[in-house]
Amino acid sequence: MVKRIAIFGSTGSIGTQALEVIAAHADKFSAEILTAHSNHELLIEQALKFNPNCVVIGDETKYKLVKEALANTNTKVFAGEKALEEVAGLDCYDMMLAGIVGFAGLKPTLKAIESGKPIALANKETLVVAGELVMQKAIANRTPIIPVDSEHSAIFQCLIGEGRNSIEKIILTASGGPFLGRKPNYLVNVKKEHALQHPNWEMGAKISIDSATLMNKGLEMIEAKWLFNLHPDQIQVIVHPQSIIHSMVQFADGSIKSQMGLPDMKLPIQYALGFPQRIPSTFPRYDFKKPHTLTFEEPDLKTFRNLALAIEALNKGGNWPCILNAANEIAVYAFIKNRIGFLDMTTVIEDVLTKMKFIEKPTLQEYFDSDGQARAYTASLIRM
Ligand code: NAD
Ligand code: MG
Repeated sequence: MVKRIAIFGSTGSIGTQALEVIAAHADKFSAEILTAHSNHELLIEQALKFNPNCVVIGDETKYKLVKEALANTNTKVFAGEKALEEVAGLDCYDMMLAGIVGFAGLKPTLKAIESGKPIALANKETLVVAGELVMQKAIANRTPIIPVDSEHSAIFQCLIGEGRNSIEKIILTASGGPFLGRKPNYLVNVKKEHALQHPNWEMGAKISIDSATLMNKGLEMIEAKWLFNLHPDQIQVIVHPQSIIHSMVQFADGSIKSQMGLPDMKLPIQYALGFPQRIPSTFPRYDFKKPHTLTFEEPDLKTFRNLALAIEALNKGGNWPCILNAANEIAVYAFIKNRIGFLDMTTVIEDVLTKMKFIEKPTLQEYFDSDGQARAYTASLIRM
């Protein structure tokens, strides 16, 4: 049986690596839906190679170009945000790889969950923004959510076979990013070119900046809370610069399980697509014969204040993580466009959090409203 995959965000770092996995295992997987925001050239190239049932180009001005390029194929072409949600409800696929970056991934993922399609979840923002609602919908529709984020994949793998055994805590490992050990007097001058250079992982721009500020780890704490139904106190972050241990679970008896391997996102992607089967791979192996040192240290919350803000949002709950996420998305794009400095990202997010209205149990509409208001206010602060 070939599993038919819908790749939302097929032109991104996660999407292109997922297509590599699919190409390497054409007997197991096919790509049936591909979506891109604006990179129509790559979307066309991918469609010609994988012959999907349909593609969606987010940017409607590119519709004609894509349509013409695929005129001699069976691939249907759609455009726009609404189409993204609509194709998520189609019957032509068996599993969604949620690889869109940011809040934009929420609606199509919710639609797939409502349609009972298992989700391989890379788009962590979906759970950061509306984790409680998303998990409730997944449970109500019996839709499995298999994490792709390497830390969460590690925890998921550690929990296999543990049934009802209780988790004392999970330990999320963080590489520390490109500025590990640096202090504010250094960070004040860093530019996007430095921040985009991650020591261990090659990723899209937004998550690379989030890794440099440690916001990524904060978002991952919130993601973990919902995925594994944990109390905030059960989630610890530890800096492990080598990125060999991808995360750990400590059980009620004190025993700790970890999942290890070389840092390569194709591994958790392939695991999520193939779950529960482990598909043989030729990915490079970790070699214990070479000298290695694995080190661990506390994150520096005084310097990397984005992580402290995310922990605050994790503890407070309600619409706070949604507001944090919206402010962060705008701040990160402003930094990438050289509109604000590295440390300004934190100042802006903090300011937005103090101004927005707290809602303890938001409805889906209230999440959308909180997101919109937080974005508008953040943009006005930055004068974008
Ligand atoms: P990316 O920027 O490389 O790719 C993003 C994809 O989403 C592209 O295909 C783009 O066309 C699409 N997209 C962007 N904005 C969109 C919009 N408004 N509407 C529709 N589509 C849109 O990002 P990435 O690094 O692949 O990350 C994707 C997601 O996976 C993020 O949520 C990220 O946090 C998560 N993730 C990534 C990695 C990694 O190694 N890259 C690791 C763990 C988790
Ligand atoms: Mg991660």
